[in-house]
Amino acid sequence: MDKNKEAAVVVFSGGQDSTTCLLWAMKKYKKVYAVSFDYGQRHKLELECAKDICKKFSIEHEILDMSLLNQLAPNSLTREDIVVDEDSPDEGTPNSFVEGRNMVFLTFVAIYAKGKKVTDIITGVSQSDFSGYPDCRDIFIKSLNTTLNLAMDYEFDIITPLMWIDKEETWEMADKLGGFDVIRNMTLTCYNGIIGDGCGNCPSCKLRKKGLDAYLSRRNS
Ligand code: ZN
Repeated sequence: MDKNKEAAVVVFSGGQDSTTCLLWAMKKYKKVYAVSFDYGQRHKLELECAKDICKKFSIEHEILDMSLLNQLAPNSLTREDIVVDEDSPDEGTPNSFVEGRNMVFLTFVAIYAKGKKVTDIITGVSQSDFSGYPDCRDIFIKSLNTTLNLAMDYEFDIITPLMWIDKEETWEMADKLGGFDVIRNMTLTCYNGIIGDGCGNCPSCKLRKKGLDAYLSRRNS
């Protein structure tokens, strides 16, 4: 089968990490597809951000319905009545973890990619800011890559540009790709659903701000 090595599919949430991956992919590939998921996330705004960013860059964007994920594994990112953990627990995963989310998302993205004759799949998972999510680890990605290849008799390449870099370096990457302002103003990472710099108090905002401050002080010094 002909394979299109000049195109890639980005797993795209409209957050900082996946938008940085989108910018990265736009530099590297002639054609970029973005796939987002509607899984009943508390903040539908996330999908609006994803749409706006794709529109800005004229990226072909697909939103897949994954509401069954919320049916199976309700958690603090999908349910109004569960409060997001302020800090990571000493043991286990934080309650913002959606069981199996990356595996499910990447599997559906792989099916989508094969339909487009694309092998390269880009995801913004990172082991550096490891927040206790087991399916963000490199070993999981490699394992799933092998499994997907066997499942579909195809040579997928799951690419993780952010795997070994932290938030400070992610800001730097976006800046070097010319996307600093897009990331700063158009992405949503805040668990309380506030675009850009966010609420400033949730774990996601704190991590984002810490990286931003560190990067800006280095850039400006
Ligand atoms: Zn926040």
